[in-house]
Amino acid sequence: MSVLIYTENWDGKFKKVSFELASYAATVAKAMQLPVIALSLGPVDDSELSKLSAYGVSHIMKNSDERFNTLDNQAIAKAIALAAEKVKATLIVLAHNNLGKAVAPRLAVRQKAGMVSAVHGLPFSYDPFTVKKMVFTGKAFSHAVIHSGVKVITLASNSFGLVENKVDFAPEAFETGLGDADFVTRIEQTNKITGKVLLNDADIVVSGGRGMKSGDNWGQLEELANLLGAGTACSRPVSDEGWRPHSEHVGQTGKIIAPNLYFAFGISGAIQHLGGVSSSKIIVAVNKDPDAPIFEAADYGIAGDVFKVLPQFIEAVKEVKSNG
Ligand SMILES: Cc1cc2nc3c(=O)[nH]c(=O)nc-3n(C[C@H](O)[C@H](O)[C@H](O)COP(=O)(O)OP(=O)(O)OC[C@H]3O[C@@H](n4cnc5c(N)ncnc54)[C@H](O)[C@@H]3O)c2cc1C
Repeated sequence: MSVLIYTENWDGKFKKVSFELASYAATVAKAMQLPVIALSLGPVDDSELSKLSAYGVSHIMKNSDERFNTLDNQAIAKAIALAAEKVKATLIVLAHNNLGKAVAPRLAVRQKAGMVSAVHGLPFSYDPFTVKKMVFTGKAFSHAVIHSGVKVITLASNSFGLVENKVDFAPEAFETGLGDADFVTRIEQTNKITGKVLLNDADIVVSGGRGMKSGDNWGQLEELANLLGAGTACSRPVSDEGWRPHSEHVGQTGKIIAPNLYFAFGISGAIQHLGGVSSSKIIVAVNKDPDAPIFEAADYGIAGDVFKVLPQFIEAVKEVKSNG
């Protein structure tokens, strides 16, 4: 028996979320007195594999088949199921992101497993296996008990964090035996956006709302994002207006993110917006209305005009950076 994690990669490197899954699974596996095993599908640099071992994963099953780069949910679910059977996984952990949300239910059906999505932090109890998950767009937690022998969970990002625990590791080639007919999605063309921080992976996110008044005013937000190595996001009306691409819209109907630091400039803090960002570790808000709901969710707030605060903020960041 074992705990299996599915580690995601992009451009030959593990995504940040994979290290959080490794930290989480290593801790859970220790409590369950089981080994933890990572599955990596698609080409990954060899130097990356050792990074997983820094977070307590000693056993890595690796398949470098480029066809997994098509992010074909069905093929990935089949491959994870094969790996799970091979290592007799009783707990399978995936990230609660677009891929995890698509793959986990398929996997649960294949494995006849009970499944809970958006799990927050460590299990509440191991027997019965009880996990905590956010409900009502982050306004409350519920406890879910999984009774099945095999369990599938998706872990909400930043709900556990990274725990360094260097162990020796042994990579092992994993053959899936999947043929072309198993890969039903084919990517015809890939347009890469270079130099931009992927929103879901970003540690820091700089976000703007309707208070920014126009898409022409995004230059300063982008400047701040560049200075901080941050991703950029926006509220839904901003993308509806066409000021920013829909890929940046966060919230109930957009991306759900959980960076360490989320800056909200000119965002009111509607419940639908907070549903996508309330798991951020620290929220900093700038809004000219001191009664704006965003201040209830924020850890730090400035009641002021964004067009006066932002330039000063950028100068302050530049000064801190120039001082090393
Ligand atoms: C079913 C449904 C789903 C939705 N899903 C989402 C979603 O996923 N994501 C999302 O974001 N929204 C979503 N919405 C919309 C949501 O209800 C809000 O309307 C939206 O989040 C408001 O965006 P905003 O804060 O940018 O704009 P506004 O509500 O217009 O707020 C602008 C804020 O900027 C401040 N401001 C104005 N000028 C300045 C200035 N010069 N300096 C500083 N502050 C200033 C104002 O005080 C105000 O608080 C959804 C709505 C519905 C009904």
